[in-house]
Amino acid sequence: QFPFGRRLPCDIYWHGVSFHDNDIFSGQVNKFPGMTEMVRKITLSRAVRTMQDLFPLEYNFYPRSWILPEEFALFVAEVRMMKDSDPSWKPTFIVKPDGGCQGDGIYLIKDPSDIRLSGSIQSRPAVVQEYICKPLLVDKLKFDIRLYVLLKSLEPLEIYIAKDGLSRFCTEPYQEPTLKNLHQVFMHLTNYSLNIHSENFIHSDSVNTGSKRTFSSILCRLSSRGADVKKLWSDIISLVIKTIIALTPELKVYYQSDIPAGKPGPTCFQILGFDILLMKNLKPMLLEVNANPSMRIEHEQELSPGVFENVPSPVDEEVKVAVIRDTLRLVDPQKKKRKD
Ligand code: ADP
Repeated sequence: QFPFGRRLPCDIYWHGVSFHDNDIFSGQVNKFPGMTEMVRKITLSRAVRTMQDLFPLEYNFYPRSWILPEEFALFVAEVRMMKDSDPSWKPTFIVKPDGGCQGDGIYLIKDPSDIRLSGSIQSRPAVVQEYICKPLLVDKLKFDIRLYVLLKSLEPLEIYIAKDGLSRFCTEPYQEPTLKNLHQVFMHLTNYSLNIHSENFIHSDSVNTGSKRTFSSILCRLSSRGADVKKLWSDIISLVIKTIIALTPELKVYYQSDIPAGKPGPTCFQILGFDILLMKNLKPMLLEVNANPSMRIEHEQELSPGVFENVPSPVDEEVKVAVIRDTLRLVDPQKKKRKD
């Protein structure tokens, strides 16, 4: 580890957070310039919405979203219009502060006017989006999927999707949102960092039980219920590719500005964490993209009140070790040299 930067040439530079070192002249770096900025909630929303305007059917995997504060009036007007044209429409919205993570600052509302009451609109830019009220449930619980995607190259575009991922479970049985349960984070938000604090959170050494499981164990279960798992995978793959395509034009601008053609510099690759929610009808919906997904394979366990210890987490290990191993194999500089 070189916490204060380094100069020696290497084959692979593995940055912990983001692309920041302009003194790398060769080799490969595990981050793209501008990726952190591009996957922030507002920027990602803007990029996907631009594509939604051009190709509405192709990009219907992202909930209808508005950017606050600038689109607040538009949000109010559009919701009013939709309610007028369909009085039976009783939507819920989720407000997510830009740059937040781990469920930080997120809340649900029933009506646009509820945003003003919170008073946070001026202080913090946010994305507000339609809340998906009918997610697929397993054991009566809402869950989401974390998939690991390797962007190996921007030009030509090369994308690899890990065959297994994580499913992160809520810890309170799911009910469709009502004014009474809107605040119950353990019911509506699947974040591990929140649910770990619930007394219902189950750490399990098995990959197909507990509050964090492998995605493949969910697929097995769905397949045994007769679900078309092949179609689900192909929908997920297309969601991933289309999302990256939406980000590509601006990523290329960042790339050319940080690593101009003809100037010595590294090539880049990056592991992205895709957060996906399955709807009851098995349609995958994109929640967000993480530029710096956690690669921890341990979790904290409270031995006695206030005393914590790191213990191995078999589910994380099963998925993440494979992601890192396959990534290193794919970007293997020796392989490249041998091929040349
Ligand atoms: P964060 O970066 O803070 O984790 P997310 O966008 O991932 O923010 O949202 C946090 C959680 O909220 C998700 O894991 C998911 O459980 C829930 N969530 C987010 N957006 C929606 C949505 N549009 N519909 C239903 N649930 C959502």
